[in-house]
Amino acid sequence: MKVWEENIRKVIPYIPGEQPKQKDIIKLNTNENPYPPAPGVRKALIRFSEMDYDWLRKYPDPTSDVLVESLANYYHLKKDQVFAGVGSDDVLAMAFLTFFNSQKPILFPDITYSFYDVWADLFQIPYERQPLDERFRIVPSDYYKKNGGIIFPNPNAPTGILMPLDEIEDIIRHNQDVIVIIDEAYIDFGGISALPLIEKYDNVLIVQTFSKSRSMAGMRVGYAMGNKTLIKYLNDVKYSFNSYTMNQTALAAAPAALEDEAYFQGTRKKIMETRERVKEELRELGFSFEDSMANFLFVTHENYWARDIFEALKRSGIYVRYFNQPRIDNHLRISIGTDEEMDQLIAFLKTYLK
Ligand code: PMP
Repeated sequence: MKVWEENIRKVIPYIPGEQPKQKDIIKLNTNENPYPPAPGVRKALIRFSEMDYDWLRKYPDPTSDVLVESLANYYHLKKDQVFAGVGSDDVLAMAFLTFFNSQKPILFPDITYSFYDVWADLFQIPYERQPLDERFRIVPSDYYKKNGGIIFPNPNAPTGILMPLDEIEDIIRHNQDVIVIIDEAYIDFGGISALPLIEKYDNVLIVQTFSKSRSMAGMRVGYAMGNKTLIKYLNDVKYSFNSYTMNQTALAAAPAALEDEAYFQGTRKKIMETRERVKEELRELGFSFEDSMANFLFVTHENYWARDIFEALKRSGIYVRYFNQPRIDNHLRISIGTDEEMDQLIAFLKTYLK
């Protein structure tokens, strides 16, 4: 190792799901939405390229005011309760940096979004993983101990398990001296958001995204909602890091997604219906899984190794996600695609599992 290398910050990075270039594959590996964004998003982008193209000379609005206002209106909040970022990954990273600044460890589940420990390591935040129970559920009493903050997704990822609101409130009630972040990336697929709790508890931050239920993973838009003091601190850190996080096209397109409620309701309903049907079919094929309220299923098979199924699927052009990690290395996470895509997955599995 060169001497200069000794002083370099070394991290073990998060590994994103594969984004293969071929278009003819069935992509069920990164929980993207199989349906396009609302038609208004396309119109907003066309309008931007035809009318506002010249604006690209200028920096974007650092406050993301139009988007923040649209979000505030949509969720019946004040503008100072909303923070926007480049996907929820950006928002969550900023939130880790802002709110988890104690010597005590932050707490999150042992099986959860695998970016949490990466950010904690990157920002040198001590952490402790709390084991999920044998059925992969979060145990609220594990979060009663002294800590430097709490984060978990609801529904959890990659399990898809939704935590009831009373259990979430129980965790919050036991943690009034730290910030509790609830990562609701998948909340729109049948869960009940903890958003109303931000009016009752000033230490709760809700993080959501346009990547899943609004079909805009490629645009990178995420947001946080909480008490105005939390949002102020979050903005202070953002402006100390990169004041122009969101580009002009994202700022032009994202509000249009919020305007088309019928489209939003329609696509999320379709995904939930497909999910429920696929649950039945996978059960018939011998898969078992806890109930998922997200746009993916987390499944295991009694007689076949997950890794073998994963590789066989990939060879036939169907991408799902496999995590080579303790407790879950015999599971597959399968995103919910269109009905046709899921039919092809089931057809393949029927022949493979014979
Ligand atoms: N939270 C969870 C639990 C996720 O699974 C993801 C998707 N990888 C994200 C946050 C980040 O999503 P995005 O940055 O696209 O909003």
